[in-house]
Amino acid sequence: MYPFAFQHTKNIKDSVSAKKEHADAKYIAGGQSLIGVMKLRLDQPSQLINLGLIPELAGICVEGSTLTIGAMTRHAEVAASADVKKCIPGLSQLAGLIADRMVRNMGTIGGSVANNDPSADYPSALLGLNATIITNQREIKADDFFLGMFETALEGSELIQSIRFTAPIKSAYAKFKHPASRYAVVGVFVAQFADEVRVAVTGAGSSVFRLSEAEKALSSNFSADALKAIHISADGLNSDFFADSEYRAHLIKLMAIQAVNQAK
Ligand SMILES: Cc1cc2nc3c(=O)[nH]c(=O)nc-3n(C[C@H](O)[C@H](O)[C@H](O)COP(=O)(O)OP(=O)(O)OC[C@H]3O[C@@H](n4cnc5c(N)ncnc54)[C@H](O)[C@@H]3O)c2cc1C
Repeated sequence: MYPFAFQHTKNIKDSVSAKKEHADAKYIAGGQSLIGVMKLRLDQPSQLINLGLIPELAGICVEGSTLTIGAMTRHAEVAASADVKKCIPGLSQLAGLIADRMVRNMGTIGGSVANNDPSADYPSALLGLNATIITNQREIKADDFFLGMFETALEGSELIQSIRFTAPIKSAYAKFKHPASRYAVVGVFVAQFADEVRVAVTGAGSSVFRLSEAEKALSSNFSADALKAIHISADGLNSDFFADSEYRAHLIKLMAIQAVNQAK
């Protein structure tokens, strides 16, 4: 690891100003992705700006059918929250499937979303639920946020403050885990709303994406049977030693069926 300075800030304004002062500074949330990258010397920020002491970034709040989760909320808190379980069962289920207990106790929803790892779980929930990412500058819909592998719409010193969700009628997440890392080889999030069904896939492409064939089929008949006839093309899907693109295409269909069967 290269040497770096560690800076604590106590509010959002000071964090953003601190990042503006050093072009190569980085925010640090749970450190579960960033520290690994720094240890491998793939990144060498001169400053880390700790977001862990900022009260506005913490907490889970429900108002009617709107659920807002602060960026610094840990995966374990989302998994355990009675409010999340009641409002969006699929989201609580997804958080409980991330990595292991240690990572869930440290990693944050904001860090995961900002990182946009192509195999991360949360991006599929945000896209599947049509969530809104609230930053210190603006509100960004999930459809416009995830741009590509490790690439998001965040600009410069922009900081994620919270994520806002609307409760669907039903939701669920099904994940085929890599046995060692526990990242998604393929993960599918399904959400049924009064006016649309959304299906988002992680792990299978360079970034999370929506599965329009499945959305169309489920919009007219929200059941596993509706998915049996759809064909998932392997074109453009990830292919590696562990799972080739044909296998991932097959898993997408299986995970989508599993998610629909579990949706509540
Ligand atoms: C062994 C292991 C297994 C894992 N398995 C899984 C898994 O199965 N599924 C899964 O989804 N993830 C998995 N992860 C990743 C884990 O969920 C991380 O916690 C997550 O990706 C990053 O969150 P973090 O809070 O640790 O962010 P950090 O590592 O602190 O930051 C990640 C990036 O986001 C930026 N950032 C952080 N917070 C903000 C913010 N509020 N605004 C703007 N930018 C911000 C940072 O500058 C950095 O670039 C795994 C990690 C490990 C180490």
